[in-house]
Amino acid sequence: MLNKTSIHYLINYALQKLLSSGVTDSPKIDAEILMAKAIKKNRSYLYTWPEKQLSTNEINEFRFLLSSRLIGKPIAYILGKKEFWGLEFKVNESTLIPRPDTEIVVDKAIELAKKIQQNNTLDKVKVLDLGTGSGAIICSIKHELKNIDAFAIEVDKVAIKIAKINAQNLSLDINFIKSNWFNELKPSSHLFNLIVANPPYIEEQDQHLKQGDLKFEPISALASGKDGLRDITHICQQASKFLVNNGWLLIEHGYNQAHKVKELMQQNDFGKIETIKDHGGNDRATLGNLMYAKNKTK
Ligand code: GLN
Repeated sequence: MLNKTSIHYLINYALQKLLSSGVTDSPKIDAEILMAKAIKKNRSYLYTWPEKQLSTNEINEFRFLLSSRLIGKPIAYILGKKEFWGLEFKVNESTLIPRPDTEIVVDKAIELAKKIQQNNTLDKVKVLDLGTGSGAIICSIKHELKNIDAFAIEVDKVAIKIAKINAQNLSLDINFIKSNWFNELKPSSHLFNLIVANPPYIEEQDQHLKQGDLKFEPISALASGKDGLRDITHICQQASKFLVNNGWLLIEHGYNQAHKVKELMQQNDFGKIETIKDHGGNDRATLGNLMYAKNKTK
């Protein structure tokens, strides 16, 4: 007789629901992840004990998780965590879910910080992550390069709490500053060697914002004015005040924004401008070197 309380049966039940809902490209994996979470076991347990019967509480929990997924809630939010750079990050609806493509930004930041370190034998390299969200970028950089001075700015009070927890869980010493971009910083007291940012950069009318995971993510971390460039423009205009001479600015942006970001950097005293591509071969981030800082004496 069919056992309707078994792991195997319930996973299949969820699989059918997820398949017909169309909310996910990976219904089987999702069903298994939800089951593993509901019964607090890892996924391999599900294959070892497919006939195991669940308690009423476990079934209720599973149904609750499944219903969240069926309305499109991202797996990362359901689990409250996401892996990035081989590290585990706590996330919630106040933080963007770290994307694999952002790892190329981390890669580049580490390369730049190392280069700066070699040329600056005396001082500690100061790195700022602007709009850190869950803290994924700065934690990954600091995890790799323990001897940098790491700073992170975030405006959202829930997000900054999450970022602090992530830094703490990873035993990383990072200075967090609650601020709307550079507003709370004094140029005289904060000069960085490298500023890195994954700001919002999607056009506010973009239909993708209403679809998939994006629908559940904080709009303030995604959309940025009519052309998606409002915040990037602001950052390019302000960054030179907070960079040492020859400091670097590295910004993630949309696949079609490289040209515009390059122009913005050029207009704001940056040179040696370079665009790097993501895992899918799309333009994804642009970096520039501050040639001459406006705030400094000639
Ligand atoms: N790359 C993300 C996406 O397109 C957007 C991230 C962002 O706006 N910073 O889903």
